[in-house]
Amino acid sequence: MDRFLTGGYKRISQIYLALKTVSLFLRYTMCMLNLTYAYRLKLNKQQFQTYDAWLETSRRVWNFALAQRKDWYNSRSCRIDACSIKSEYIIRADTPRPTFASQCKALTQARKTHPDLNAAHSQMLQQVLRRVEKAFIGMWESGRGFPRFKKQGRMRSMLFPQLGVNPIQGSRVKLPGVGWVKMQLSRPIPDGFVAKQAQVVKKASGWYVMLTLQADVNVPSFAPHGYPVGIDLGLKSFLATSGGEQIPRPRFFVDLQGKLRLLQQRASRKKLGSNNWRKAQHKVSRLHEHIHNTRKDFHFKLAHYLCDKGGMIFAEDLNFKAMAQGMFSKHTLDAGFGEFLSILEWVCCQRGVYFAKVNPDGTSQTCPNCNNHTGKKDLSERVHRCHECGFETDRDVAAAMVVMQRGLAAVGHTVKMLGEGLSNSSLLTQESPVF
Ligand SMILES: [Zn+2]
Repeated sequence: MDRFLTGGYKRISQIYLALKTVSLFLRYTMCMLNLTYAYRLKLNKQQFQTYDAWLETSRRVWNFALAQRKDWYNSRSCRIDACSIKSEYIIRADTPRPTFASQCKALTQARKTHPDLNAAHSQMLQQVLRRVEKAFIGMWESGRGFPRFKKQGRMRSMLFPQLGVNPIQGSRVKLPGVGWVKMQLSRPIPDGFVAKQAQVVKKASGWYVMLTLQADVNVPSFAPHGYPVGIDLGLKSFLATSGGEQIPRPRFFVDLQGKLRLLQQRASRKKLGSNNWRKAQHKVSRLHEHIHNTRKDFHFKLAHYLCDKGGMIFAEDLNFKAMAQGMFSKHTLDAGFGEFLSILEWVCCQRGVYFAKVNPDGTSQTCPNCNNHTGKKDLSERVHRCHECGFETDRDVAAAMVVMQRGLAAVGHTVKMLGEGLSNSSLLTQESPVF
């Protein structure tokens, strides 16, 4: 009977979708589309040495620029009529605060006398100063920590903000300072796109280039259509859908975290700076890279899976930065919710699925059946029970339903409460897919 129901439901939704596709109304907006594609680089020995030296130069520029700003702030932090007993910064009171512009000027001067600085790409070094500036702005505005000095080997990427004309030919890319470099063209560069920027990154597994590709294209913005899906991101399961599905947090994350701890422990027992220590560190960073890739892969697969389900996807507009600083910090960061949502948005755009974020306030305190306020739930309380109408379902699923209803209301659909007869067949808890 169940199978029959789902079969019938599938048929109906297919017909419904087909009808909708015919009448699908696409709005095109002209805009600049940016894509970032990453490729592995095959540097020869000379190219490798050049870029290694440039990374070291930019690390020193970072540290110098940071020290200059730090000293200036410290010199301003003591009282005018008193001196510290230990030491005092001797910086004249009328010295202006170091800025991006002033530091760029100083860099140009220093390049004349320092061959190391002169050897490195000037725009690339300016980008380092811009990063210092950004780090300070991040500290003032977003409450991040004081920017830190970088130890040897900690500078891992260089940004080249401009590339020459036709910088890509076949599977080769022309990069500043080293000329033509072979790259592993794991996927072709899409037609109509031009490489504008290149970021060269040194990872544990080798060198990579992140190309910023740009094109003037028509980006379709999809009108809301199709079957609605609301999602709730949680800690117990990775996410719950309004259809009653729960996607668990993948098991491999836990396993890899354990492995990471083990490797970190091993590395910490080695003598600092020794060859064995370096090898152990390398293993740790390889694993970090692997975890990152695995997580991204999982996010993409899940995003495609959700797009298979419906034509509109709604998610809560959560502040992940605030969440990450709160009590669930580790879990939140580990699950990478923010990253998942941006991947989901991207996949939706590719697949022609409408995506929107809704107000997250009190989604877990509202009954999806009668819209009644059920009050705050304790985190351990896993089931939603409404005293008003007796509706009972999993807590996260209930939240996802509320998200869906809010989304539908936002796009102008009349929201039917479940009690008024929205298809209940979708509410049967289904088996979760295996990724
Ligand atoms: Zn209720």
